[in-house]
Amino acid sequence: MITILLGAPGVGKGTQAQLAAGAHGWIHLSTGELLREEVAAGSELGTQANEFMSRGDLVPDEVMVGMVAARIESLSPEDVLLLDGFPRTLVQAKALEAASPSGSIGLALYFTAADSVLTQRLLGRGRKDDTENVIQHRLSVYRETTQPLVAFYSERGLLSEVNADRPVEDVQSDFLNTVQNALGKTNLA
Ligand code: AMP
Repeated sequence: MITILLGAPGVGKGTQAQLAAGAHGWIHLSTGELLREEVAAGSELGTQANEFMSRGDLVPDEVMVGMVAARIESLSPEDVLLLDGFPRTLVQAKALEAASPSGSIGLALYFTAADSVLTQRLLGRGRKDDTENVIQHRLSVYRETTQPLVAFYSERGLLSEVNADRPVEDVQSDFLNTVQNALGKTNLA
């Protein structure tokens, strides 16, 4: 089953996914992490992607879709994949739908927190693209381009919302319950 983690930068998707994946043998796929590995390796893709990332812009859809599609193809039916940071655009969401076996997208988990909380968390994280200006730009790109995916997955009956402005373990507990619940439904299907 594919679980999509939606929510603004800084909402804690990565932390939550890492915890859940570690505890349950699920696969955590963070496109941001994959890109940062390419940057660190100095690959051509990394060099090109870094221009977008350092500005807080999105890396072009075709690059991202290519990156994820190959991994979707290698999934086994019993795998649980936590998609963290993808899709971020409607083009990506539609490409994911097309690349995924029918019925395999079981859940879109939408993490929410106030903007002031997001900004504080991002500033505290200290990543290279976590400077004040770049953060503000990433949040506005998120609102314009990624936020519409909430409606996209809601229309498909896949959306579940989690209040992420709470202690990590409380968010994790809701996260796990929601994924288990969705897994139960796909197993019955
Ligand atoms: P993240 O670690 O998810 O915050 O991603 C860091 C940066 O990588 C983003 O600000 C984007 O520049 C880029 N990125 C990651 N995932 C995507 C995606 N699905 N589409 C476009 N750009 C992405």
